[in-house]
This record gives sequence, C-alpha cells and structure tokens, in this order.
Amino acid sequence: MKHFPIFLAVEGRRIVLAGGGDAALAKLRLLMKTDARITVLAEDPAPEIETWAAQGKLVLHRRAMAPGDAICAKLFYAASEDADEDARTAAIAHAEGALVNIVDNLHDSAFITPAIVDRDPVTVAIGTEGAAPVLARQIKRDLEERLPAALGTLARIGKEFRKMADRLPFGRPRRDFWSDYYNRTGPRDIAGGEDAVRAGLDDLLGNHLGVQARDGHVHFVGAGPGDPDLLTMKARRALHEADVVIHDRLVTPEILELARREAMILDVGKTGFGPSTSQDDINDLIVRHGLEGAQVVRLKSGDPTVFGRLDEELEAVEAAGIAHTIVPGITAASAAVAGLGQSLTRRGRNAEVRFLTGHDMKGFADHDWAALARPGAVAAIYMGKRAARFMQGRLMMHGADPATPVTVVENAGRPTMRVLPSTLSQLEPDLSEAGLTGPAVVMLGLAPRAAVTALSQTDVTLSAPDATAKEAML
Ligand code: SAH
Repeated sequence: MKHFPIFLAVEGRRIVLAGGGDAALAKLRLLMKTDARITVLAEDPAPEIETWAAQGKLVLHRRAMAPGDAICAKLFYAASEDADEDARTAAIAHAEGALVNIVDNLHDSAFITPAIVDRDPVTVAIGTEGAAPVLARQIKRDLEERLPAALGTLARIGKEFRKMADRLPFGRPRRDFWSDYYNRTGPRDIAGGEDAVRAGLDDLLGNHLGVQARDGHVHFVGAGPGDPDLLTMKARRALHEADVVIHDRLVTPEILELARREAMILDVGKTGFGPSTSQDDINDLIVRHGLEGAQVVRLKSGDPTVFGRLDEELEAVEAAGIAHTIVPGITAASAAVAGLGQSLTRRGRNAEVRFLTGHDMKGFADHDWAALARPGAVAAIYMGKRAARFMQGRLMMHGADPATPVTVVENAGRPTMRVLPSTLSQLEPDLSEAGLTGPAVVMLGLAPRAAVTALSQTDVTLSAPDATAKEAML
C-alpha cells in the first residue's frame, strides 16, 4: 500500500484550490460536499464557480495565487491544467504547510482524492493509486448493485498493463479500452487465472488499436421526478458512460452525482444566476458535442417527451446526422398519483387522462374546458401553479362541479413531497396559502386515497374537507 486511506477532519478548516476550469470544477463538486471553508484562486473562473461564490459556498479571488494564500490550509489543489503554473502554486502551498495535490500528477502529489460513494454519514472512499481511474468509477457503480469478487486482481493486472494501454490515444479510446477490460474481458477471463487475463488484455488492446474513433451519440434521457431510485437502468448506464451531461433545472443533484466524475456537466436551466440558456443555444450545444464524437446525455426531468421541447432538439440532432436514442422516464403525473395512492384511470370514472400545461409561450394555455369540466374528468396540469386561478375560472364557467377534487402535489416522488388536497372552488386560495416553492403538478379530479377514505367514513362531502385530515396530508 503506497497510499494510506484516512478520513481527514475538515469541518471549518481551509481548503485552497488554484484553477478555474474543468479540472477545478470536478474537484470543487466533491469538496463542496464537505464542511470545509473553500477558497478558490482563478484569474478566469468558470461561471459555476462565480455562482457558488455568489451563493457563499466558497470564497473566490479573481487573481493568480500568491505567497500567503495557503497559510493555515489543510489541503491544497493545483488544478490550473497548466503544468508550470501548477508547479508554481504547489510550491507555495507546500512551503506554507498544506498537503498538496496536483490534478493529474500523481508523482508530485502528497495525497490523492478517492472516488467517493456518498451515503452520509457513511462514506466509502475508493482509491487505485492512480493505476486505473476508470476502475474507481466502476467500483463506485458496482457498490450500488454488487461488488464483483475478482476486481482486486483485475486492478493489479490492469496496473501492470497501463504502460501498454498508453499506446491508445488519451481520452475516450483509452477509457473505452479499460471499460471493456473491467466490464467484459477481465471478469470473463479471470476463471482461467491471471495468465488468461493477461492474454485477454493483449487481445483486447489489439482490437482497440484497430478500431476507429467512435462516433458521437446523443441520449435524450428522462431523469424522472428527482429520486435516483426512480431512474431506469438505461438512464443510469447512459449517465455512467456520458462524456457530456446537459441538464435542466429540475434535475436533482443526487441524479447528477451518478454521472462519471470526469464528465462535463452543463446546466442549461439556470435561474438564480443569469438568464436561462435559449433553446437555440441548447440545440447548438448538443450538436457541437455530438459532432465532436462525445457520448452526450441530454437529461430532462420526468419523461423527456412530456413538455420538454424534445422535438426541437431531436430535429437539430437529426439535421446534424448524429445518432440518437430516447430513454423514457417517469413523468411527474405518474409520481404524483403514486403519492396520492390513486390510479390515473379507473373503470366507471375516467377512460381518458389529459396532460396539460398551465401556460405556453403565449401565456396561460387554453384547453378544451368543456371536456375537462365533465364529472369524472382527470387531468395532470404541469406548470400549473401560476395558472391555477385562470383554470379555476374557466372550469367553473364551463359548469364544473365546485366540489370536484383537485390535489396539488409538490416535489412528487421525492422525500420532500407535499400533498395539498383541495377542491375546484377552494384551489385558490388554498394554493396561495400553502406557499409551495418546489415543482408541483395539479391533479384535477383526484383526491388522495387517505382523504377519500377518511371523508367517506365520516360522510363529509369533498367540498368541505376535514381540517385535521387536510393538515395531516400537508
Ligand atoms: N418532462 C417533465 C415535465 C417538465 S415541465 C415530466 O415529465 O415530468 C416542468 C413541470 O413539471 C413543473 O412545472 C411541474 O409542474 C412538473 N414537475 C416536474 N417535476 C416534478 C415533481 N418532482 N413534482 C411535481 N411536479 C413536477
């Protein structure tokens, strides 16, 4: 063991990082999980770093590092992606007593950052002494399912083979090679002993040296309502293999966590910091990375085909001749009814369900109000919070029963889910009073099962829900 794994107390301690590009971002995403006080020195910081600084998550100095900057720092990361500059900053930090890590320079680093499976307060740290970064990622994935017994041996043989594998071009070709080894040939050959694995590696390298660079591919992936457990296996696999992940605002950090650590993660749905990216810019971004040969995951909340402007992106990708796949996800309406303990359709009640948007590009969206006002109609209204009063008025005007149950489900499918049972006549003011802040879907024609049972037992009509029952649902 050349590196001894320990868990360092960093709460309230300083960690300093010099650099503002992709390498710095990758490290900062990890460091921000800690309770350390993080300082970043970067002359040209990435916008994400600016955002984190504005949010008070780190302290940013927009200048090159100078003597004195690493005083009292526990750890220092040289992450400028420039060997000379990293050597300069590392020397300063070393002289000031910090433990130094130079990104992608194992030899000159005093410590290395493990791959982390984060189940706070349980943390699993995985290190390979720089032998196999791809393997570290692989173990992280397998820990969520099952850890293959032979992995240790494969890692050792893989390390011996690293110099040979360096004949492959850096980046994707090398990653694909190691990925094939650890996923396919290694586990297959291990039954024949170590020599079989070494022979398998030789063959594999021969194959990979003969293979042309892979073409780019865009996966349009549904991230579901936010809980990683509600992702499909296909979505998980696409995330593990992605070079670039382009995601919307509603995709949760827990899901982004599943992307390869080296993957470039681009948020195109920013709200707090600057305006959100325009649809044309998003299309261009997807196409650009696809044409460069990247495995792109376009990650959309819920199902990508529901109110996700998927067609515009598909057309752009098709026009550029890039291969693509759609990976469906669980849409908010499905998560919401599951939360209500209800079924979206029911014999004798509704033989159709409508998915509506509360507003479109022109403002509050118009719909077939007469159909929606009929008894038993069920609809899931997306982006409906602000349009609630408008829809309430339209439905009543078309003769809907004021006692029609309407239930708002906020953060459906997440641990923070809140259910607000109401009726058509009460939707406003109930909705405004509840002051919901998360994404919410308005379920017209459905009440939570518990409330239905409680109400039918006490024979109270749905138009006057019992105050305590209602309180309990919230
Ligand atoms: N493609 C997404 C919908 C995108 S439109 C899907 O299939 O779910 C964004 C709207 O979806 C939000 O305004 C909200 O109405 C709804 N939404 C998304 N995630 C949600 C969640 N976890 N809980 C409740 N509503 C959600």
